[in-house]
Amino acid sequence: MTATARGLCEFIDASPSPFHVCATVSSRLRDAGYTELAEADKWPSAGKFFTLRAGSLVAWDSGTDTGGRSFRGRPFRIIGGHTDSPNLRVKQHPDREAAGWQIVALEPYGGAWLNSWLDRDLGVSGRLSIRGGGGIAHRLVRIDAPILRNAVWGADGPTRSFIGYVAEQSGIDPDDVLGADLMTHDLTPSTLSGLGDQFVSAPRLDNQASCYAGLEALLNTTAGHYLPVLVLFDHEEVGSTSDHGADSELLTTTLERIVLAGGGGREEFLRRLPGSMVASADMAHATHPNYPERHEPGHLIAINGGPVLKVHPNLRYATDGRTAAAFALACQRAGVPLQRYEHRADLPCGSTIGPMTSARTGIPTVDVGAPQLAMHSAREFMGAGDVAAYAAALRAFLSPG
Ligand code: ZN
Repeated sequence: MTATARGLCEFIDASPSPFHVCATVSSRLRDAGYTELAEADKWPSAGKFFTLRAGSLVAWDSGTDTGGRSFRGRPFRIIGGHTDSPNLRVKQHPDREAAGWQIVALEPYGGAWLNSWLDRDLGVSGRLSIRGGGGIAHRLVRIDAPILRNAVWGADGPTRSFIGYVAEQSGIDPDDVLGADLMTHDLTPSTLSGLGDQFVSAPRLDNQASCYAGLEALLNTTAGHYLPVLVLFDHEEVGSTSDHGADSELLTTTLERIVLAGGGGREEFLRRLPGSMVASADMAHATHPNYPERHEPGHLIAINGGPVLKVHPNLRYATDGRTAAAFALACQRAGVPLQRYEHRADLPCGSTIGPMTSARTGIPTVDVGAPQLAMHSAREFMGAGDVAAYAAALRAFLSPG
């Protein structure tokens, strides 16, 4: 395994928006011999591939096409995560003036801890959709200069177009901009911290730590009895209902197309599902030193204590005994400890892509994660030792012997 806390820091700093997460993962996949397939194209029968739909990505290794049935019948092992994180997004009419200040109008995305965003130097990133080539082209943009603080970006002179400024800085004619998905990011680089570098201090650990661990797991797995898949969805933080969120048909369509491309039919696809399994990988709440009573007694979660199995009998998480057993076995095979978590019963519990992925695909699903503090803050916090342990457990899950 090559997953390290420093590797995670590099991954996060390269990925300020969901679109950039997809670009970072794509580039790592290409380096490892994966080929990008467009959804509109006919797909080859077997190999290492990935496909993108806006801020979501699916990657898989369907092995070598031997022309025989051994290739076709294998069930899937799937790691699912999400590419988006709570942040502040640029509005359609962002240019405002108040008391002589030039302000960029921002809107919270997901459950951002707003006070953590206020006292920070913020950059801007995302995607501009522009006129080009007789149609519309989409360009990733990012400005890593401290252009914003408390939504302020100027005081002197006439009001400027913020989106026009972002376009200019990206070498794009502002008149060509037809659509914009822009958001802010904290400019402080990710770092190891604490005594002996025991911790990772970084933005977007939820859920880029899972994207990174899942990617490392896939890159270190060879297709065997199971067909390994990594799916990273956008829009988890706002409910997942979109054309490419976890509540879309993206995963089921891709899985069926993998089987069809390999020469199988619909029945063959459906026959693979009962033996398949999903690990919904999303971060977990470590026990905070000031608030241990917020945890269910007997269910404290230690930072650097290993991956977390998340159970919620009322199904905010998808785990049941069958899928818990599969992940417990994966941790044993990886030689990492497992922490079993249930949320305090009288407190509201967040959810993940787990329950809806399970419902949409009919595939048994386990909810897992790595422990962290400060979830949804502009700056989050996890154990450095948990990075490799998390990736090792996910890798063992992807190839269960
Ligand atoms: Zn999350």
